[in-house]
Amino acid sequence: MRFDGPPREMHKAVCSDCGQECEVPFAPAEGRPVYCRECFRNHRPPRQQRRF
Ligand SMILES: [Zn+2]
Repeated sequence: MRFDGPPREMHKAVCSDCGQECEVPFAPAEGRPVYCRECFRNHRPPRQQRRF
């Protein structure tokens, strides 16, 4: 994968919802659920949805 811009440090984690291994741009904290991109969207409060 190649992206323009500064590289982001990705951390491997296991999604707490679907159980799939994923990478997140932040260090997963112990005891806190980590969601992959798909599940993260589902767990987000809908009222915070914004169009860019
Ligand atoms: Zn997931």
